[in-house]
Amino acid sequence: MQFELSERLTKLPPYLFVEIDKAKRKALREGKDIIDLGIGDPDEGSPKEVIESLYKALQDSKNHHYPLDQGISSFRKRIAEWYSSRFGVALDPEKEILVLIGSKEGIGHMPLAFVNPGDVSLVPDPCYPPYKGGTILAGGRIHAMPLLEGNNFLPDLKKIKESTLKKARILYINYPNNPTSAVCEKGFFEDVALFAKKYGLIVAHDAAYSEVAFDGYKPDSFLKVNGAMDVGVEFHSLSKTCNMTGWRIGFVCGNEKIISAIGKVKSNIDSGAFNAIQMAGITALDIAERHLKRMNAVYQERRDALVDGLNSIGWKTKKPKATFYAWTSLPRPYKSSIKFAGKVLNEAGIVITPGVGFGESGEGYVRMALTVSVERIKEAVDRLKKII
Ligand SMILES: *Cc1c(COP(=O)(O)O)cnc(C)c1O
Repeated sequence: MQFELSERLTKLPPYLFVEIDKAKRKALREGKDIIDLGIGDPDEGSPKEVIESLYKALQDSKNHHYPLDQGISSFRKRIAEWYSSRFGVALDPEKEILVLIGSKEGIGHMPLAFVNPGDVSLVPDPCYPPYKGGTILAGGRIHAMPLLEGNNFLPDLKKIKESTLKKARILYINYPNNPTSAVCEKGFFEDVALFAKKYGLIVAHDAAYSEVAFDGYKPDSFLKVNGAMDVGVEFHSLSKTCNMTGWRIGFVCGNEKIISAIGKVKSNIDSGAFNAIQMAGITALDIAERHLKRMNAVYQERRDALVDGLNSIGWKTKKPKATFYAWTSLPRPYKSSIKFAGKVLNEAGIVITPGVGFGESGEGYVRMALTVSVERIKEAVDRLKKII
């Protein structure tokens, strides 16, 4: 029997990592020693305090029922406390915070609340794929905002045409940024808040990497700048903050009406995050500062080993101030990031992510994740030296 797919499904962008994934699986089957710098998933397990907290919460039968739609109140209160102490932003836990089943879930569902067929989302290019996927599944269209090195990987809002802005509903931003690892100044957030107000846009700031930063740098909250609470929300996740990618727990904070609309979509699709995981989420926020102090030192050491190593063999790679990625232009004379990543996998047994997979403006770059040990990173640099 033939099943006709919905138009929205056929409109999703092609998954450009297919070939790399296939080649990686083949190499692993052949027993090759592969160094995987591809996936943005912390290599260490979750903190033991968080695991113990989950055990304890699991014993309590009141955590076994359907969760509340918006999340349990003790977790929302703890999130409000964290926001206040970490960013100096005051939030009402009843109205301005919504618990998510991982931030990807909220990011992907948000367009269902605001985007009508034919409406436009303004999406950075390159970007984390769900900004596009969520918009297309809601029947919307994508307007790509190139993130160029010459503009410090910030979108140039002035370049967006008035005719596009008339149809635009959501403006996505993400700093510290995946995949470019760029950070932004407070002034950029201020510009975004003013721009959104002027054109009636909703801002979705993805702050998944707000806690992964180096050299004493502390990323800021979009919600802190004037006017941001009138126009936007900010997505957070415990995935990168506390090595909890598999747990599926995140939250979105900000404008009450936007939060309530996302909540309405969710209440028709899911029934919230498992209460016991939300209880463990409270513990994660309790121990986050200590955990991050150690983890960020680990990532910083790996970053230095990778970037110094690449530059010592003639690459031109900058040290990121945040995220656990290095985003680097291809060494000469290579141009195609997919071909280059294929060569690196086949000849050196290293998985790296081709930049074009995140959007056209990512062409000419590759992303390398700092989620393997310093020894393996040094080994990777040695192998690269031999093939390039
Ligand atoms: C990892 C990541 C997320 C988050 O993921 P969840 O695990 O769904 O919370 C969100 N945005 C970006 C840019 C990411 O890299």
